[in-house]
Amino acid sequence: MKIAVMGGTFDPIHNGHLIAAEYARTSLKLDKVIFIPSGVHPFKNNRNITEGKKRLDILSLAIESNKYFDISNIEINREGTTYTIDTIRALKEIYREDEIYFIIGSDIIFEIVQWKGFQELIELCNFILLYRLGKNEDKIENKIEELNRLYGLKFEKVNAPLIEISSTEIRERVKRDLSIKYLVPEIVEGYIYKHKLYSRENING
Ligand code: ATP
Ligand code: MG
Repeated sequence: MKIAVMGGTFDPIHNGHLIAAEYARTSLKLDKVIFIPSGVHPFKNNRNITEGKKRLDILSLAIESNKYFDISNIEINREGTTYTIDTIRALKEIYREDEIYFIIGSDIIFEIVQWKGFQELIELCNFILLYRLGKNEDKIENKIEELNRLYGLKFEKVNAPLIEISSTEIRERVKRDLSIKYLVPEIVEGYIYKHKLYSRENING
């Protein structure tokens, strides 16, 4: 089987993530996409991230209707800092006979070399790059070429539509009382308001 992982803070998951994951699944014939929200994120410890349990709840609501999508609490439940390499090692133990893929957006190729255990990571799994033509095309092409030349890293490219939604934008819009309709699944929108996430009164905002 082809098992893909999409890692991220997912604070919150939005339609950009979901559309990209579904494109990756269909174009590369993936058997499963597992969304893994990070625990303490090594590159994002400068703001208050919503507690893991709530990010996980939001994810389960968002993926409910897609039988190929799954979630894992492996990183949320881990003590201390989250590293992708530990997650991939753990998945390799579970899915011994399967191919593991890691899905990333093109912003990630600029930081991936700094990830803990980068060399081992690129040996353990295949990388799927959500390759969005148009934006920073030359810069991305140069980086892909450099990663290949220096580290032998190869990407499976997926041409997903360019949907420039970010979780940061969702949080900002909620804080400013602007609509997030159609940016996140309706059920996620409801959860965010019900739990007063990202709002001005909430310290997590
Ligand atoms: P934030 O604004 O908090 O950084 P984000 O929207 O970038 O949030 P992350 O949780 O940081 O979301 O990203 C998880 C993964 O999803 C990363 O691999 C990232 O490149 C990818 N990604 C993020 N936004 C999009 C999008 N709009 N389309 C496709 N992939 C995306
Ligand atoms: Mg991001």
